[in-house]
Amino acid sequence: MRSLDPSEDNPWHTLAACRRDEAGLFFAPSKEPTAARLAREEHAKRVCAGCPVLLSCREHALAQPEPYGVWGGLTAAERRVLLARRRRRATESTLVPVQLERGRIAG
Ligand code: SF4
Repeated sequence: MRSLDPSEDNPWHTLAACRRDEAGLFFAPSKEPTAARLAREEHAKRVCAGCPVLLSCREHALAQPEPYGVWGGLTAAERRVLLARRRRRATESTLVPVQLERGRIAG
């Protein structure tokens, strides 16, 4: 039986629940109506929810960053929000020590 742990010999994408995306759930066809897109994305997210490599996939998509499609249970818009939040947190964590050092934050 194949291990579900990604490794060098067993890269995460080989374990992907979506590797045979026959239904085209993960990427939008051109000119897809909004209601159809939302339904397709929800269906894709349900597949992701049962995927053994969800976190590896999500981090890959955030690191690239992948601009289109559902990856790791997140739409492209949701990944942009998450990346912006991570950038803001990273900025805050570097600014607060400098501000404390300069006496700008009472503490
Ligand atoms: S988390 Fe979703 S998009 Fe990523 S490999 Fe699994 S099924 Fe595919």
